Amino acid sequence: MRAMAQMTLSEHATDFIDDDRLNGLLRSRPDEARVRAIIEKSLAKQALNVEETAVLLNAEEPDLVEEIFEAARRLKRNVYGNRIVLFAPLYIGNECVNDCLYCAFKRSNPDAVRRTLAEQELRRQVEALENQGHKRLILVFGEHPRYDATFIADCVRTVYDVHAGHGQIRRVNINAAPLDHVGYKTVKEAGIGTYQVFQETYHHATYARVHPSNTRKGNYGYRLDALSRAMEAGIDDVGIGALFGLYDWRFEVLGLVAHATYLQKRHGVGPHTISFPRLQPAAGVQLDQRFFVNDHDFKRLIAVLRLAVPYTGLILTAREKPALRRAVMEFGVSQIDAGSRIEIGGYTEAGDAQCMEREQFQLGDIRSLDEVMRELLVDGYIPSFCTACYRLGRTGEHFMEFAIPGFIKRYCTPNALSTLMEYLTDYASPQTKAAGRRLIEAELDKMDNGTQKERLRDVLRKIESTDQRDLYF
Ligand code: SAM
Ligand code: SF4
Repeated sequence: MRAMAQMTLSEHATDFIDDDRLNGLLRSRPDEARVRAIIEKSLAKQALNVEETAVLLNAEEPDLVEEIFEAARRLKRNVYGNRIVLFAPLYIGNECVNDCLYCAFKRSNPDAVRRTLAEQELRRQVEALENQGHKRLILVFGEHPRYDATFIADCVRTVYDVHAGHGQIRRVNINAAPLDHVGYKTVKEAGIGTYQVFQETYHHATYARVHPSNTRKGNYGYRLDALSRAMEAGIDDVGIGALFGLYDWRFEVLGLVAHATYLQKRHGVGPHTISFPRLQPAAGVQLDQRFFVNDHDFKRLIAVLRLAVPYTGLILTAREKPALRRAVMEFGVSQIDAGSRIEIGGYTEAGDAQCMEREQFQLGDIRSLDEVMRELLVDGYIPSFCTACYRLGRTGEHFMEFAIPGFIKRYCTPNALSTLMEYLTDYASPQTKAAGRRLIEAELDKMDNGTQKERLRDVLRKIESTDQRDLYF
Protein backbone atom coordinates (compact mmCIF):
# COMPACT_ATOMS: atom_id res chain seq x y z
CA MET A 1 0.00 0.00 0.00
CA ARG A 2 1.40 3.38 -0.98
CA ALA A 3 0.28 6.53 0.83
CA MET A 4 -0.78 9.13 -1.72
CA ALA A 5 0.42 12.69 -2.02
CA GLN A 6 -2.06 15.04 -0.32
CA MET A 7 -4.42 17.02 -2.55
CA THR A 8 -7.97 17.04 -1.33
CA LEU A 9 -7.93 13.31 -0.78
CA SER A 10 -9.98 11.25 1.64
CA GLU A 11 -8.61 10.58 5.09
CA HIS A 12 -5.87 7.90 5.03
CA ALA A 13 -6.11 7.66 1.22
CA THR A 14 -4.01 4.82 -0.10
CA ASP A 15 -3.26 3.38 -3.48
CA PHE A 16 -4.53 -0.13 -2.76
CA ILE A 17 -3.78 -1.49 -6.24
CA ASP A 18 -0.52 -3.43 -6.32
CA ASP A 19 0.03 -4.31 -9.99
CA ASP A 20 2.76 -6.85 -9.35
CA ARG A 21 0.69 -8.71 -6.79
CA LEU A 22 -2.40 -8.82 -9.03
CA ASN A 23 -0.40 -9.96 -12.05
CA GLY A 24 1.30 -12.57 -9.87
CA LEU A 25 -2.08 -13.95 -8.75
CA LEU A 26 -3.08 -14.31 -12.38
CA ARG A 27 -0.07 -16.51 -13.07
CA SER A 28 -0.96 -19.14 -10.48
CA ARG A 29 -1.93 -22.59 -11.80
CA PRO A 30 -5.65 -23.46 -11.83
CA ASP A 31 -6.69 -25.96 -9.19
CA GLU A 32 -10.07 -27.68 -9.74
CA ALA A 33 -10.76 -28.49 -6.10
CA ARG A 34 -9.99 -24.93 -5.07
CA VAL A 35 -12.25 -23.54 -7.80
CA ARG A 36 -15.12 -25.69 -6.53
CA ALA A 37 -14.53 -24.70 -2.88
CA ILE A 38 -14.58 -21.03 -3.86
CA ILE A 39 -17.78 -21.50 -5.86
CA GLU A 40 -19.36 -23.04 -2.76
CA LYS A 41 -18.30 -20.08 -0.64
CA SER A 42 -19.86 -17.71 -3.11
CA LEU A 43 -23.09 -19.71 -3.32
CA ALA A 44 -23.28 -19.31 0.47
CA LYS A 45 -23.46 -15.57 -0.38
CA GLN A 46 -20.05 -14.69 0.97
CA ALA A 47 -17.99 -12.12 -0.91
CA LEU A 48 -14.69 -13.37 -2.35
CA ASN A 49 -11.33 -11.74 -1.80
CA VAL A 50 -8.94 -10.83 -4.60
CA GLU A 51 -6.93 -14.02 -4.31
CA GLU A 52 -10.05 -16.23 -4.51
CA THR A 53 -11.34 -14.23 -7.46
CA ALA A 54 -8.02 -14.85 -9.24
CA VAL A 55 -8.49 -18.59 -8.81
CA LEU A 56 -11.81 -18.37 -10.67
CA LEU A 57 -10.27 -16.19 -13.37
CA ASN A 58 -7.45 -18.67 -13.89
CA ALA A 59 -9.89 -21.51 -14.61
CA GLU A 60 -9.74 -21.98 -18.39
CA GLU A 61 -10.83 -25.56 -18.78
CA PRO A 62 -14.29 -25.60 -20.51
CA ASP A 63 -16.03 -27.82 -17.92
CA LEU A 64 -14.80 -25.67 -15.06
CA VAL A 65 -15.83 -22.49 -16.86
CA GLU A 66 -19.27 -24.05 -17.35
CA GLU A 67 -19.43 -24.72 -13.59
CA ILE A 68 -18.66 -21.06 -12.97
CA PHE A 69 -21.41 -20.03 -15.39
CA GLU A 70 -23.88 -22.35 -13.72
CA ALA A 71 -22.97 -21.06 -10.25
CA ALA A 72 -23.43 -17.46 -11.41
CA ARG A 73 -26.87 -18.35 -12.81
CA ARG A 74 -27.83 -19.98 -9.50
CA LEU A 75 -26.55 -17.11 -7.39
CA LYS A 76 -28.37 -14.62 -9.55
CA ARG A 77 -31.64 -16.56 -9.21
CA ASN A 78 -31.25 -17.08 -5.45
CA VAL A 79 -30.07 -13.63 -4.54
CA TYR A 80 -31.83 -11.34 -6.98
CA GLY A 81 -34.73 -13.38 -8.25
CA ASN A 82 -35.89 -12.40 -11.73
CA ARG A 83 -36.04 -8.61 -11.44
CA ILE A 84 -34.12 -6.39 -13.85
CA VAL A 85 -34.01 -2.68 -13.06
CA LEU A 86 -34.26 -0.33 -16.05
CA PHE A 87 -32.80 3.12 -16.55
CA ALA A 88 -31.70 5.49 -19.32
CA PRO A 89 -28.55 7.59 -19.75
CA LEU A 90 -29.00 11.31 -20.38
CA TYR A 91 -25.94 13.08 -21.76
CA ILE A 92 -25.92 16.70 -20.57
CA GLY A 93 -22.77 18.01 -22.22
CA ASN A 94 -19.65 16.87 -24.03
CA GLU A 95 -17.23 19.72 -23.40
CA CYS A 96 -14.10 18.11 -22.02
CA VAL A 97 -10.69 19.23 -20.82
CA ASN A 98 -9.29 15.71 -20.83
CA ASP A 99 -7.74 13.75 -23.65
CA CYS A 100 -8.62 10.13 -22.95
CA LEU A 101 -7.32 8.22 -25.95
CA TYR A 102 -10.47 6.10 -26.29
CA CYS A 103 -13.21 8.74 -26.11
CA ALA A 104 -14.74 10.86 -28.86
CA PHE A 105 -15.24 13.73 -26.39
CA LYS A 106 -11.48 14.11 -25.89
CA ARG A 107 -10.28 17.67 -26.33
CA SER A 108 -8.02 16.76 -29.27
CA ASN A 109 -10.96 15.54 -31.37
CA PRO A 110 -11.70 18.51 -33.65
CA ASP A 111 -14.69 16.77 -35.25
CA ALA A 112 -16.73 16.40 -32.07
CA VAL A 113 -19.82 18.62 -32.19
CA ARG A 114 -19.65 20.27 -28.75
CA ARG A 115 -22.86 21.04 -26.98
CA THR A 116 -24.34 21.46 -23.51
CA LEU A 117 -28.08 21.25 -22.93
CA ALA A 118 -29.67 24.51 -21.81
CA GLU A 119 -32.31 24.19 -19.09
CA GLN A 120 -35.25 24.19 -21.49
CA GLU A 121 -33.54 21.64 -23.71
CA LEU A 122 -32.89 19.46 -20.67
CA ARG A 123 -36.57 19.68 -19.74
CA ARG A 124 -37.58 18.53 -23.22
CA GLN A 125 -35.21 15.55 -23.04
CA VAL A 126 -36.67 14.55 -19.68
CA GLU A 127 -40.22 14.90 -20.98
CA ALA A 128 -39.35 12.62 -23.89
CA LEU A 129 -37.85 10.06 -21.50
CA GLU A 130 -40.86 10.22 -19.20
CA ASN A 131 -43.13 9.73 -22.21
CA GLN A 132 -41.25 6.52 -22.99
CA GLY A 133 -41.95 5.36 -19.42
CA HIS A 134 -38.60 5.93 -17.73
CA LYS A 135 -38.39 6.58 -14.00
CA ARG A 136 -34.63 6.33 -13.40
CA LEU A 137 -31.93 8.28 -15.23
CA ILE A 138 -28.19 8.59 -15.14
CA LEU A 139 -26.93 12.04 -16.11
CA VAL A 140 -23.58 11.95 -17.94
CA PHE A 141 -21.10 14.82 -18.25
CA GLY A 142 -17.72 15.45 -19.83
CA GLU A 143 -15.14 16.94 -17.50
CA HIS A 144 -15.12 20.73 -17.80
CA PRO A 145 -15.05 23.69 -15.40
CA ARG A 146 -18.57 24.63 -16.47
CA TYR A 147 -19.83 21.23 -15.25
CA ASP A 148 -19.02 21.97 -11.62
CA ALA A 149 -20.94 20.59 -8.64
CA THR A 150 -23.44 23.46 -8.64
CA PHE A 151 -24.19 22.92 -12.33
CA ILE A 152 -24.63 19.18 -11.79
CA ALA A 153 -26.90 19.80 -8.77
CA ASP A 154 -29.00 22.27 -10.80
CA CYS A 155 -29.42 19.69 -13.57
CA VAL A 156 -30.56 17.12 -11.00
CA ARG A 157 -33.15 19.51 -9.55
CA THR A 158 -34.42 20.37 -13.02
CA VAL A 159 -34.85 16.68 -13.87
CA TYR A 160 -36.85 16.00 -10.71
CA ASP A 161 -39.02 19.02 -11.50
CA VAL A 162 -40.27 17.75 -14.89
CA HIS A 163 -43.64 15.97 -14.91
CA ALA A 164 -45.15 14.93 -18.23
CA GLY A 165 -48.59 13.32 -17.73
CA HIS A 166 -48.16 10.53 -15.17
CA GLY A 167 -44.43 10.72 -15.81
CA GLN A 168 -41.89 11.45 -13.14
CA ILE A 169 -38.18 10.76 -12.72
CA ARG A 170 -37.76 9.25 -9.28
CA ARG A 171 -34.07 8.60 -9.15
CA VAL A 172 -31.28 10.58 -10.77
CA ASN A 173 -27.84 9.00 -10.78
CA ILE A 174 -24.66 10.74 -11.93
CA ASN A 175 -21.66 9.75 -14.04
CA ALA A 176 -19.28 12.68 -13.98
CA ALA A 177 -15.74 13.66 -13.11
CA PRO A 178 -14.49 13.14 -9.55
CA LEU A 179 -15.37 16.00 -7.16
CA ASP A 180 -13.91 17.17 -3.87
CA HIS A 181 -15.74 16.80 -0.55
CA VAL A 182 -17.58 20.11 -0.87
CA GLY A 183 -18.67 19.25 -4.40
CA TYR A 184 -20.05 15.88 -3.37
CA LYS A 185 -22.02 17.52 -0.55
CA THR A 186 -23.51 19.95 -3.07
CA VAL A 187 -24.73 17.19 -5.38
CA LYS A 188 -25.97 15.09 -2.48
CA GLU A 189 -28.18 17.97 -1.35
CA ALA A 190 -29.86 17.89 -4.77
CA GLY A 191 -31.01 14.34 -3.99
CA ILE A 192 -28.85 12.22 -6.25
CA GLY A 193 -29.00 8.43 -6.20
CA THR A 194 -25.71 6.78 -7.14
CA TYR A 195 -22.52 8.68 -8.04
CA GLN A 196 -20.48 6.71 -10.56
CA VAL A 197 -16.81 7.18 -11.36
CA PHE A 198 -15.10 4.50 -13.45
CA GLN A 199 -11.40 4.00 -12.88
CA GLU A 200 -11.28 2.91 -16.57
CA THR A 201 -8.17 0.79 -15.98
CA TYR A 202 -6.67 -0.20 -12.65
CA HIS A 203 -3.30 -0.94 -14.30
CA HIS A 204 -1.02 2.01 -13.54
CA ALA A 205 1.09 1.98 -16.72
CA THR A 206 -1.95 1.59 -18.96
CA TYR A 207 -3.75 4.34 -17.07
CA ALA A 208 -0.80 6.64 -17.70
CA ARG A 209 -0.71 5.67 -21.38
CA VAL A 210 -4.35 6.46 -22.12
CA HIS A 211 -4.76 9.50 -19.85
CA PRO A 212 -2.07 12.09 -20.64
CA SER A 213 -0.32 13.32 -17.51
CA ASN A 214 -0.97 16.98 -18.32
CA THR A 215 -4.74 16.46 -18.01
CA ARG A 216 -6.92 16.39 -14.90
CA LYS A 217 -7.80 12.77 -15.45
CA GLY A 218 -4.10 11.94 -15.68
CA ASN A 219 -3.95 11.68 -11.86
CA TYR A 220 -4.57 8.00 -11.10
CA GLY A 221 -4.59 8.41 -7.32
CA TYR A 222 -7.07 11.28 -7.27
CA ARG A 223 -9.49 9.21 -9.34
CA LEU A 224 -8.98 6.02 -7.33
CA ASP A 225 -9.83 8.00 -4.20
CA ALA A 226 -12.89 9.68 -5.78
CA LEU A 227 -15.56 7.50 -4.24
CA SER A 228 -13.95 7.43 -0.81
CA ARG A 229 -14.30 11.21 -0.80
CA ALA A 230 -17.91 10.80 -1.93
CA MET A 231 -18.58 8.46 0.98
CA GLU A 232 -16.89 10.79 3.46
CA ALA A 233 -19.13 13.55 2.13
CA GLY A 234 -22.20 11.43 2.91
CA ILE A 235 -23.00 9.75 -0.42
CA ASP A 236 -23.44 6.10 0.48
CA ASP A 237 -24.47 4.90 -2.99
CA VAL A 238 -21.46 4.83 -5.27
CA GLY A 239 -20.76 2.97 -8.51
CA ILE A 240 -17.38 1.73 -9.70
CA GLY A 241 -16.42 0.49 -13.14
CA ALA A 242 -13.65 -0.43 -15.54
CA LEU A 243 -13.52 0.13 -19.27
CA PHE A 244 -12.77 -3.34 -20.56
CA GLY A 245 -10.39 -3.51 -23.50
CA LEU A 246 -7.65 -1.19 -22.26
CA TYR A 247 -5.68 -3.89 -20.43
CA ASP A 248 -5.97 -7.61 -19.51
CA TRP A 249 -9.63 -8.13 -18.55
CA ARG A 250 -8.70 -10.49 -15.73
CA PHE A 251 -6.52 -7.82 -14.12
CA GLU A 252 -9.39 -5.33 -14.31
CA VAL A 253 -11.75 -7.78 -12.59
CA LEU A 254 -9.22 -8.06 -9.75
CA GLY A 255 -8.96 -4.26 -9.64
CA LEU A 256 -12.75 -3.96 -9.31
CA VAL A 257 -12.87 -6.57 -6.56
CA ALA A 258 -9.96 -4.88 -4.74
CA HIS A 259 -11.81 -1.56 -5.00
CA ALA A 260 -15.08 -3.04 -3.74
CA THR A 261 -13.28 -4.71 -0.83
CA TYR A 262 -11.47 -1.49 0.03
CA LEU A 263 -14.69 0.57 0.13
CA GLN A 264 -16.40 -2.07 2.24
CA LYS A 265 -13.54 -2.20 4.77
CA ARG A 266 -12.83 1.50 4.86
CA HIS A 267 -16.39 2.85 4.87
CA GLY A 268 -18.50 -0.12 5.97
CA VAL A 269 -20.44 -0.12 2.68
CA GLY A 270 -19.35 -1.64 -0.60
CA PRO A 271 -20.18 -0.11 -3.98
CA HIS A 272 -23.85 -0.11 -4.92
CA THR A 273 -23.05 -1.08 -8.50
CA ILE A 274 -20.25 -2.25 -10.77
CA SER A 275 -20.21 -1.35 -14.46
CA PHE A 276 -18.14 -3.22 -17.02
CA PRO A 277 -18.37 -1.31 -20.31
CA ARG A 278 -16.44 -2.74 -23.24
CA LEU A 279 -14.56 -0.38 -25.52
CA GLN A 280 -16.65 0.60 -28.56
CA PRO A 281 -15.72 2.34 -31.80
CA ALA A 282 -15.74 6.10 -31.40
CA ALA A 283 -15.32 9.03 -33.82
CA GLY A 284 -11.74 10.27 -34.03
CA VAL A 285 -10.43 7.33 -32.01
CA GLN A 286 -7.92 4.71 -33.11
CA LEU A 287 -8.38 1.78 -30.78
CA ASP A 288 -5.51 -0.49 -29.87
CA GLN A 289 -7.06 -3.95 -30.21
CA ARG A 290 -4.54 -5.93 -28.13
CA PHE A 291 -6.75 -6.21 -25.09
CA PHE A 292 -10.19 -6.36 -26.69
CA VAL A 293 -12.44 -8.75 -24.78
CA ASN A 294 -14.24 -11.37 -26.87
CA ASP A 295 -17.82 -12.41 -26.12
CA HIS A 296 -16.86 -15.61 -24.34
CA ASP A 297 -14.47 -13.82 -21.99
CA PHE A 298 -17.06 -11.09 -21.50
CA LYS A 299 -19.45 -13.75 -20.20
CA ARG A 300 -16.71 -15.10 -17.96
CA LEU A 301 -15.98 -11.71 -16.48
CA ILE A 302 -19.64 -11.11 -15.66
CA ALA A 303 -20.01 -14.55 -14.09
CA VAL A 304 -16.86 -14.14 -11.98
CA LEU A 305 -17.91 -10.66 -10.83
CA ARG A 306 -21.31 -12.04 -9.86
CA LEU A 307 -19.67 -14.71 -7.74
CA ALA A 308 -17.07 -12.37 -6.23
CA VAL A 309 -19.45 -9.63 -5.07
CA PRO A 310 -22.82 -11.28 -4.47
CA TYR A 311 -24.30 -8.11 -2.92
CA THR A 312 -23.37 -5.62 -5.61
CA GLY A 313 -25.57 -4.73 -8.56
CA LEU A 314 -24.10 -5.38 -12.01
CA ILE A 315 -24.92 -2.93 -14.80
CA LEU A 316 -24.95 -4.02 -18.43
CA THR A 317 -25.23 -1.15 -20.89
CA ALA A 318 -26.60 -0.68 -24.39
CA ARG A 319 -23.02 -0.58 -25.68
CA GLU A 320 -23.61 -4.31 -26.25
CA LYS A 321 -25.71 -5.77 -29.06
CA PRO A 322 -29.24 -7.09 -28.34
CA ALA A 323 -28.45 -10.80 -28.73
CA LEU A 324 -25.46 -10.64 -26.40
CA ARG A 325 -27.40 -8.59 -23.87
CA ARG A 326 -30.08 -11.23 -23.87
CA ALA A 327 -27.57 -14.03 -23.49
CA VAL A 328 -25.55 -12.60 -20.58
CA MET A 329 -28.49 -11.42 -18.51
CA GLU A 330 -28.71 -14.75 -16.73
CA PHE A 331 -25.16 -14.55 -15.36
CA GLY A 332 -26.04 -11.97 -12.79
CA VAL A 333 -26.90 -8.67 -14.42
CA SER A 334 -29.26 -6.64 -12.24
CA GLN A 335 -29.63 -3.37 -14.17
CA ILE A 336 -29.74 -2.43 -17.85
CA ASP A 337 -30.42 0.73 -19.78
CA ALA A 338 -32.99 0.67 -22.57
CA GLY A 339 -34.31 3.00 -25.24
CA SER A 340 -30.96 4.76 -24.87
CA ARG A 341 -29.61 7.54 -27.09
CA ILE A 342 -26.32 9.16 -26.25
CA GLU A 343 -26.18 12.00 -28.75
CA ILE A 344 -26.65 15.25 -26.81
CA GLY A 345 -30.33 16.06 -27.36
CA GLY A 346 -30.79 12.58 -28.83
CA TYR A 347 -34.15 11.80 -27.23
CA THR A 348 -35.89 14.45 -29.30
CA GLU A 349 -33.56 15.02 -32.21
CA ALA A 350 -32.02 11.69 -33.23
CA GLY A 351 -33.51 9.67 -36.05
CA ASP A 352 -33.17 5.91 -36.44
CA ALA A 353 -29.47 6.07 -37.22
CA GLN A 354 -26.72 7.08 -34.81
CA CYS A 355 -24.67 10.18 -35.51
CA MET A 356 -21.09 9.40 -34.55
CA GLU A 357 -19.86 13.02 -34.48
CA ARG A 358 -22.41 13.73 -31.80
CA GLU A 359 -21.85 10.80 -29.50
CA GLN A 360 -19.14 9.48 -27.24
CA PHE A 361 -19.02 6.03 -28.78
CA GLN A 362 -21.25 3.78 -30.84
CA LEU A 363 -24.18 2.06 -29.12
CA GLY A 364 -24.91 -1.60 -29.87
CA ASP A 365 -28.57 -1.58 -28.86
CA ILE A 366 -30.87 1.29 -29.82
CA ARG A 367 -34.12 -0.63 -29.57
CA SER A 368 -37.01 1.18 -27.91
CA LEU A 369 -37.74 0.73 -24.21
CA ASP A 370 -40.98 -1.03 -25.17
CA GLU A 371 -39.17 -3.59 -27.29
CA VAL A 372 -36.61 -4.33 -24.58
CA MET A 373 -39.39 -4.59 -21.97
CA ARG A 374 -41.24 -7.09 -24.17
CA GLU A 375 -38.17 -9.25 -24.60
CA LEU A 376 -37.52 -9.27 -20.84
CA LEU A 377 -41.13 -10.22 -20.14
CA VAL A 378 -41.08 -13.02 -22.70
CA ASP A 379 -37.88 -14.32 -21.11
CA GLY A 380 -39.54 -14.37 -17.68
CA TYR A 381 -37.86 -11.34 -16.10
CA ILE A 382 -39.75 -8.68 -14.17
CA PRO A 383 -38.64 -5.32 -15.57
CA SER A 384 -38.61 -2.95 -12.59
CA PHE A 385 -38.53 0.82 -12.21
CA CYS A 386 -38.63 0.55 -8.43
CA THR A 387 -37.08 3.35 -6.40
CA ALA A 388 -38.97 2.71 -3.16
CA CYS A 389 -36.10 2.11 -0.73
CA TYR A 390 -34.22 5.16 -1.76
CA ARG A 391 -37.30 7.36 -1.47
CA LEU A 392 -38.32 5.91 1.89
CA GLY A 393 -34.85 6.65 3.21
CA ARG A 394 -34.04 2.95 3.35
CA THR A 395 -30.46 3.76 2.38
CA GLY A 396 -27.81 1.18 1.90
CA GLU A 397 -30.78 -0.18 -0.06
CA HIS A 398 -28.78 -2.82 -1.72
CA PHE A 399 -27.47 -4.26 1.46
CA MET A 400 -30.91 -4.48 3.01
CA GLU A 401 -32.20 -6.56 0.15
CA PHE A 402 -29.92 -9.31 1.31
CA ALA A 403 -29.47 -8.63 4.99
CA ILE A 404 -33.13 -8.79 5.94
CA PRO A 405 -34.72 -12.20 5.44
CA GLY A 406 -37.74 -12.06 3.17
CA PHE A 407 -36.99 -8.47 2.09
CA ILE A 408 -37.16 -9.25 -1.62
CA LYS A 409 -40.45 -11.10 -1.22
CA ARG A 410 -41.99 -8.39 0.96
CA TYR A 411 -40.77 -5.30 -0.87
CA CYS A 412 -38.75 -5.79 -4.05
CA THR A 413 -41.05 -8.11 -6.00
CA PRO A 414 -44.30 -6.26 -5.18
CA ASN A 415 -42.65 -2.92 -5.99
CA ALA A 416 -41.25 -4.28 -9.24
CA LEU A 417 -44.75 -5.46 -10.18
CA SER A 418 -46.43 -2.17 -9.27
CA THR A 419 -43.94 -0.16 -11.33
CA LEU A 420 -44.39 -2.64 -14.17
CA MET A 421 -48.14 -2.09 -13.95
CA GLU A 422 -47.57 1.66 -14.19
CA TYR A 423 -45.58 1.10 -17.36
CA LEU A 424 -48.17 -1.25 -18.86
CA THR A 425 -51.03 1.13 -18.08
CA ASP A 426 -49.40 4.36 -19.22
CA TYR A 427 -46.90 3.54 -21.96
CA ALA A 428 -46.85 -0.04 -23.26
CA SER A 429 -47.76 -1.21 -26.76
CA PRO A 430 -50.62 -3.77 -26.91
CA GLN A 431 -48.19 -6.70 -27.32
CA THR A 432 -46.04 -5.62 -24.39
CA LYS A 433 -49.14 -5.04 -22.31
CA ALA A 434 -50.34 -8.57 -22.98
CA ALA A 435 -46.94 -10.08 -22.14
CA GLY A 436 -46.77 -7.96 -18.97
CA ARG A 437 -50.19 -8.97 -17.74
CA ARG A 438 -49.32 -12.64 -18.21
CA LEU A 439 -46.15 -12.17 -16.18
CA ILE A 440 -47.94 -10.30 -13.39
CA GLU A 441 -50.51 -13.10 -13.10
CA ALA A 442 -47.76 -15.72 -13.02
CA GLU A 443 -45.95 -13.81 -10.26
CA LEU A 444 -49.15 -13.43 -8.25
CA ASP A 445 -49.72 -17.17 -8.56
CA LYS A 446 -46.30 -17.77 -7.00
CA MET A 447 -47.15 -15.65 -3.94
CA ASP A 448 -48.60 -17.10 -0.75
CA ASN A 449 -52.23 -16.14 -0.17
CA GLY A 450 -52.60 -13.53 2.53
CA THR A 451 -52.70 -9.82 3.23
CA GLN A 452 -49.54 -9.05 1.28
CA LYS A 453 -50.99 -10.55 -1.89
CA GLU A 454 -54.30 -8.75 -1.35
CA ARG A 455 -52.52 -5.43 -0.81
CA LEU A 456 -50.59 -5.94 -4.01
CA ARG A 457 -53.76 -6.79 -5.95
CA ASP A 458 -55.32 -3.64 -4.57
CA VAL A 459 -52.34 -1.51 -5.63
CA LEU A 460 -52.37 -3.02 -9.12
CA ARG A 461 -56.11 -2.35 -9.45
CA LYS A 462 -55.69 1.27 -8.34
CA ILE A 463 -52.94 1.89 -10.89
CA GLU A 464 -54.99 0.39 -13.69
CA SER A 465 -58.25 2.12 -12.93
CA THR A 466 -57.34 5.45 -11.33
CA ASP A 467 -54.76 8.22 -11.64
CA GLN A 468 -52.95 7.07 -8.51
CA ARG A 469 -49.29 6.35 -9.15
CA ASP A 470 -46.13 5.82 -7.16
CA LEU A 471 -47.73 3.34 -4.76
CA TYR A 472 -45.05 1.33 -3.08
CA PHE A 473 -44.31 -1.04 -0.21
N1 SAM B 1 -16.20 12.40 -18.28
C1 SAM B 1 -16.47 11.65 -17.08
C2 SAM B 1 -15.38 10.64 -16.85
O1 SAM B 1 -14.57 10.44 -17.71
O2 SAM B 1 -15.40 10.09 -15.77
C3 SAM B 1 -17.81 11.01 -17.20
C4 SAM B 1 -17.88 9.73 -17.82
S1 SAM B 1 -17.74 9.42 -19.50
C5 SAM B 1 -18.76 10.58 -20.24
C6 SAM B 1 -18.58 7.90 -19.37
C7 SAM B 1 -17.78 6.66 -19.49
O3 SAM B 1 -17.81 6.25 -20.83
C8 SAM B 1 -16.30 6.70 -19.19
O4 SAM B 1 -16.05 6.61 -17.82
C9 SAM B 1 -15.75 5.52 -19.98
O5 SAM B 1 -15.68 4.36 -19.19
C10 SAM B 1 -16.80 5.29 -21.05
N2 SAM B 1 -16.26 5.40 -22.41
C11 SAM B 1 -15.49 6.38 -22.90
N3 SAM B 1 -15.12 6.10 -24.17
C12 SAM B 1 -15.67 4.89 -24.49
C13 SAM B 1 -15.65 4.05 -25.64
N4 SAM B 1 -14.98 4.37 -26.75
N5 SAM B 1 -16.34 2.89 -25.59
C14 SAM B 1 -17.03 2.53 -24.51
N6 SAM B 1 -17.09 3.29 -23.38
C15 SAM B 1 -16.42 4.46 -23.36
FE1 SF4 C 1 -13.69 13.48 -21.23
FE2 SF4 C 1 -14.76 11.46 -19.80
FE3 SF4 C 1 -14.36 11.26 -22.47
FE4 SF4 C 1 -12.29 11.27 -20.87
S1 SF4 C 1 -13.95 9.70 -20.90
S2 SF4 C 1 -12.46 12.46 -22.78
S3 SF4 C 1 -12.96 12.65 -19.29
S4 SF4 C 1 -15.78 12.63 -21.42
